[in-house]
Amino acid sequence: QQKAVIIGAGIAGIATAIRLAVKGYTVEVYEANSYPGGKLSQFEQDGYRFDAGPSLFTMPQYVDELFKLAGKNPADHFTYQKLDVVCKYFYEDSTRLSAYADTQQFAQEIESKTGEPAASVIKHLANSSDIYSITNHVFLERSLHKLKTYLRWDTVRSILRFPKIDPLRAMHKANQSNFKDKRIVQFFDRYATYNGSDPYQAPATLNVIPHLEHHFGAYFPYGGMYSIPQSLVKLAEELGVKFHYNYKVDEIVVINNKAKGIRAKGENILADVVVSNMDVWFTYNRLLGKYPKLHPQKILNQERSSSALIFYWGIKKHFPELDLHNIFFSADYRAEFGHIWKQQDIYNDPTVYLNISSKYKTDDAPEGCENWFVMINVPANNGQDWDKLIADARQHIIAKLSKILGEDIAPLIVCESILDPRSIESKTSSYKGSIYGTSSNNRFAAFLRHANKSSKVKGLYFCGGSVHPGGGIPLCLLSAKITADIIS
Ligand code: FAD
Repeated sequence: QQKAVIIGAGIAGIATAIRLAVKGYTVEVYEANSYPGGKLSQFEQDGYRFDAGPSLFTMPQYVDELFKLAGKNPADHFTYQKLDVVCKYFYEDSTRLSAYADTQQFAQEIESKTGEPAASVIKHLANSSDIYSITNHVFLERSLHKLKTYLRWDTVRSILRFPKIDPLRAMHKANQSNFKDKRIVQFFDRYATYNGSDPYQAPATLNVIPHLEHHFGAYFPYGGMYSIPQSLVKLAEELGVKFHYNYKVDEIVVINNKAKGIRAKGENILADVVVSNMDVWFTYNRLLGKYPKLHPQKILNQERSSSALIFYWGIKKHFPELDLHNIFFSADYRAEFGHIWKQQDIYNDPTVYLNISSKYKTDDAPEGCENWFVMINVPANNGQDWDKLIADARQHIIAKLSKILGEDIAPLIVCESILDPRSIESKTSSYKGSIYGTSSNNRFAAFLRHANKSSKVKGLYFCGGSVHPGGGIPLCLLSAKITADIIS
């Protein structure tokens, strides 16, 4: 029996383990932390439970697929519900919008609250759906680094329709020409942040993202976001996968350009296949540090995605006007992104994302209270004075939320934890604390992401948010699928 070792128990590492176990491999996963999930983790504080990383769950079919692959009924092991309102939006001019999952209702809501014709919204979503149908099997579901992908008829058909994916214009430019109302341009520009990019630079191809949310829907796992890795680890263990926690891998053992295994805790662990779920930058610089000639420097030097600053607040009050997902937009989006990408600091009026899982999972907070996950987009870690930036951002966020909600929230905060680019980097070995690997600000970004297989070291493979096809839970799960498919 062939043996595979996987470095890291992030969502893609766990999914790859499942797929390889189903293929008949003996699989062992080595994880530096004491828990699985990587960025997808949770913690408890003073009676509140917080999902520490991802909060928006889309494309649940990729999780279900793993249970089906193992011959199980997904609904017996992992359950979730579809959201009727995907997100609530609050603007500085006091406009409030509910993004209904139902397209007609959503378009009507936009027309009635802003005057932007419902027809423009429906047309935009139809365009988003077209981009998806052209790109999904080329960019998302297959390796971009295999000739076979380009020889398929559906790829050729997609290539012929490429102008439709709008790769030459910036996303903001396209949205400006699609909508008259600035609030709606801002609404659709925000989707660039779903993979840590800048709508003023990223290609309009990223207008595919609203389709994922509005067509396939947004979901909430009944057990909270952490039930995703929890249920998948259980499935992997049932398939015989062994997880080793508190087990930091120090080196990938390479002999004659062939991966022979890993080195951890002073011992060599041999394997036929090595899969790294660790950020690709650190995989080369830490685990293959001895072999600088193997480093694909151009690919490793791609701009990183943005990072995040999160305040986890226990709030001793219930806010009925808030939902599971809430956005409080900045008044000047261009200035905000200028600060993230050019000045590399934090704007004094950031767009605030507020997630409250206790709205759905009521035992996540004590009675009458709510668990607030308050996040803003910030630059990747380039050695900024984070302590000062965080202290200022905290004040600005509290002032903004208090103004819009009409109540001083500072005295309602009963406990607090903070995650910032430095701690994201140290907790999950993500280079510069970027949360989605590399950014998509460059129109060639999809082609410059690292492949799922090493072109120089036989037997070495990669999965996770820093490699093809990209970051976010759905793409990480697809990376696992592509990786397992190319492992023979
Ligand atoms: P990671 O989660 O990066 O895990 C890698 C694992 O490898 C870690 O457990 C790490 O400890 C381990 N490791 C690293 N080095 C070693 C070593 N030397 N030895 C052993 N183990 C090692 N996505 C969404 O879909 N929706 C969202 O709403 C969303 N919001 C997010 C919010 C935040 C704050 C963050 C941080 C991320 C968010 N994301 C979201 C992105 C999503 O979390 C990631 O894309 C995804 O979880 C990354 O998974 P991964 O498989 O790449 O592994």
